[in-house]
Amino acid sequence: MAEKMISTEPATGDQIWRGKVGSVDDAMERALAAKRGWASESVSKRMEFMRRFANQVLKHSEPFAELIARETGKPLWEARTEVEAVKNKVEISIKAYAERTGQKKLDSALQGSAALRHKPHGVMAVLGPYNFPAHLPNGHIVPALIAGNVVVFKPSEKTPAVGEFLTKLFHEAEVPEDVIQCVHGGAATGKALVGHPDIDGLLFTGSAQAGIAINKKLASNPAKIVALEMGGNNPIVMLPTPKIEDAAVTIIQSAFTTAGQRCTAARRLIVPDEIYDDIIPAVKSLSGRLLVDEPFADPQPFMGTVIDNDAADILLQSREALLDHGAEDILEMTRPKEGLPFLTPGIVETTAIDERPDVELFGPLLQVIRVKDFDEAIVEANNTRYGLSASLIGGEPKDFEKFWSEARAGIVNWNRPTNGASSAAPFGGIGLSGNHRPAAYYAADYCAYPVASTEVDQPRASIGVGLKDANKGPRKSKDAHK
Ligand code: NAD
Repeated sequence: MAEKMISTEPATGDQIWRGKVGSVDDAMERALAAKRGWASESVSKRMEFMRRFANQVLKHSEPFAELIARETGKPLWEARTEVEAVKNKVEISIKAYAERTGQKKLDSALQGSAALRHKPHGVMAVLGPYNFPAHLPNGHIVPALIAGNVVVFKPSEKTPAVGEFLTKLFHEAEVPEDVIQCVHGGAATGKALVGHPDIDGLLFTGSAQAGIAINKKLASNPAKIVALEMGGNNPIVMLPTPKIEDAAVTIIQSAFTTAGQRCTAARRLIVPDEIYDDIIPAVKSLSGRLLVDEPFADPQPFMGTVIDNDAADILLQSREALLDHGAEDILEMTRPKEGLPFLTPGIVETTAIDERPDVELFGPLLQVIRVKDFDEAIVEANNTRYGLSASLIGGEPKDFEKFWSEARAGIVNWNRPTNGASSAAPFGGIGLSGNHRPAAYYAADYCAYPVASTEVDQPRASIGVGLKDANKGPRKSKDAHK
């Protein structure tokens, strides 16, 4: 009998969803049966289905946002922006498909027509994270479906209700049920999908740890396309600016939006001596004023919960461990409601720690590192195996030029937060943050493969060199006697 699953609301502890672990084998069987039919629909028909899906998202936007807020613990205002991103993904993906993986014909007098077209891979498995349980898997699903793939989607075991709701919206848009399926389960179900012989691709958003395990498992099988969107240990480098308050807001947006549960959240604030006493008090004072409350509170909070009590425990323990190793508290991270995963923003200075752990602390905990100057700040910013996003705040254009060229990250911003990336741009990182298959606008690239063709309507060919005359010996070249 299938194992039962339960999802609870982090802000209340109430049960929100019950279900069962799904069967990967059954889903794969249905996906394989559906793959031909979907691939043979015209691309314009598949785009029409996606536009219908966008209409369904719009129609159900409020219950969708409420469900996201309840299941993740994020504030309702933020859940609404997630729903908006799900809808907007459709037009962005249609444009991206046409621009990056559509068809081109290049006429050539000698070779007839040369054509470039793209084909779908087949069955794509999509594994989603909990922090954007609709927008991020959808960021793989929509381009995969437009390109003609069928999808087996496993939402995070922490947000199954949102995963199911998202999938139903595709079905309400009349996308056939076997073309996009939702299979529930935890890491074991994810592993079963990764190991299934009939998947043609694996599109993953989640932690570096799981991404690396997936990469290893598929390393001996280069036929399968693997796109890994993973975490970060993202730096902000601070330089002098007359706009200290705005700088503080940008830092706080980077570190604490979504309770710090964004892959692009700033984890490290790197501050040269000359600006330290201006920026740190401003960041501390503003952080201390951020409202932390349940998703539907009035007034709306800046932050809700982290995903569950385990995550809250790990974050509190990580802060303690940093303090034990020589860090100093600038703003204490606290748990205001015992037994629930609300955390207030925390700031610790870790300059004195010799070997700072290069790990992603996925929550509202910002580390401050004090350095001598800009050069040292850049070295410190790059002192990570990750490479997702990095921001410079303050400074002059020449400083940003230097930062841009030396910072090792897939997103490098100036006077803007490390997070909040546009879906209309490529989104991915280097190092442990990804495998050079960026998502968002470039998701089209990993959803289809290019096929080059040269084409003439009748065979037309001659052998110009190295042919005997019919019934005689080899033709002599005119100047053979010379
Ligand atoms: P996670 O890695 O724990 O889980 C992600 C998904 O993978 C889940 O569906 C899970 O069940 C599955 N999974 C876990 N281990 C697996 C394995 N060994 N084999 C197959 N499947 C497995 O991630 P999470 O905790 O849900 O999400 C938070 C993480 O995601 C953070 O590290 C964050 O930085 C990252 N993230 C990255 C991006 C990005 O686009 N780069 C975006 C959002 C979140």
